[in-house]
Amino acid sequence: MKIIITYIFALSFILNVNIELPNDNSEIEGILYSDNGYVSIETSSGKITGINRLSSENKDQELFIAPGLIDVQINGYMGVDFSGPNLTIEGVRKATKALWKVGVTSYFPTIITSDIERIKQNFAILALARKDPEIGKSIAGFHLEGPYISPIQGYRGAHLEKYIKLPDWKEFREIQKAADNGIKLITLAPELEGAISFISNCVKSGVVVALGHHNGSAKDIQMAIDAGAKMATHLGNGCANEINRHHNPIWPQLSDDRITPSIIADGFHLTKEEVRSFYKVKKFNNLILVSDALDLAGLPVGEYTRGERKLLLTPNVVKLPEENVLAGAASPISKCVGVMMNFTQCSLKEAIQMASTNPANMFSMNNLGAIEPGKRADIIQFSMKNNEMIVHKTFVDGERVYSNK
Ligand SMILES: [Zn+2]
Repeated sequence: MKIIITYIFALSFILNVNIELPNDNSEIEGILYSDNGYVSIETSSGKITGINRLSSENKDQELFIAPGLIDVQINGYMGVDFSGPNLTIEGVRKATKALWKVGVTSYFPTIITSDIERIKQNFAILALARKDPEIGKSIAGFHLEGPYISPIQGYRGAHLEKYIKLPDWKEFREIQKAADNGIKLITLAPELEGAISFISNCVKSGVVVALGHHNGSAKDIQMAIDAGAKMATHLGNGCANEINRHHNPIWPQLSDDRITPSIIADGFHLTKEEVRSFYKVKKFNNLILVSDALDLAGLPVGEYTRGERKLLLTPNVVKLPEENVLAGAASPISKCVGVMMNFTQCSLKEAIQMASTNPANMFSMNNLGAIEPGKRADIIQFSMKNNEMIVHKTFVDGERVYSNK
């Protein structure tokens, strides 16, 4: 084997071509997130083929190994806005590569309430990006957040009122067609006229329905869940500041076990007490962490103009300065892992489950979200310092796509 490899190297040198050799498996070594044992992960043809237990003597005791993070709500990254007018495949490539650096190996680019033609146009671009040989494997599907949400201020959050509308199945099918059937998740308001039959149609067509940006009554919410809605989008956000203490959209979603909420645990969108309560009620196997990051995430602090909106990027969040409401987050999901551990005292194993295993299960991505033989080798190697995840290496489909060295 050694002779053959030497020969290939010599030949590639003579022909001046790059021939990629299989990754050296010894580089995927570390403390397994789920049981704290020291392991080396074996991979072949993009799959995990073995987990070898190693003696921890003389090994780096700081590095953990976990399945790559899966973010099902992310609006853009590093200046690339998935809902923006200038989206290109190269932009999606830039965002995807930047996400690899923070441990995200799969994500759902999220398009929010916009002009329908823009929505279709951008999904068509994302559908092409999904087929791209370099980045396509990291784009697991798409999330459409809106336009069928509450038009009421507070509940609509940063979504532009003029584009908000009632659910329209024919229109959604056209959007889904433009997306080449890539939309796996839709966020909508259950109290809107026609919402319940719309939800049934989505579920029949395999799209997961999340309730969000809504002011549904307990009855609306129950009907939506009976029709197949399974998630609550960023529970505790997308809601007015002043609500009735008994009758509000939060309790019915929290109390029904059929709902798995997503939460923005960036340390700013929810209080510590809210995060702890949601975690205690839903448990670690029924919560999903999302970043809800805006494209401004990763850019310098300051005022930005995005389309028809003025946005203020602070070190921690993005705000709409005129209405003084949150417009979105400025942190990747890797930060939410550390905040979750800090706020709830949950283990790394549980935090990773909420940021990888649970979203994989929710969307039946059976080859992702775990380190087990047969799963796709989407693996991150990282250290934890003061509840902050620092990614050292990222592998997608067995290939190293990021290394900090
Ligand atoms: Zn939202």
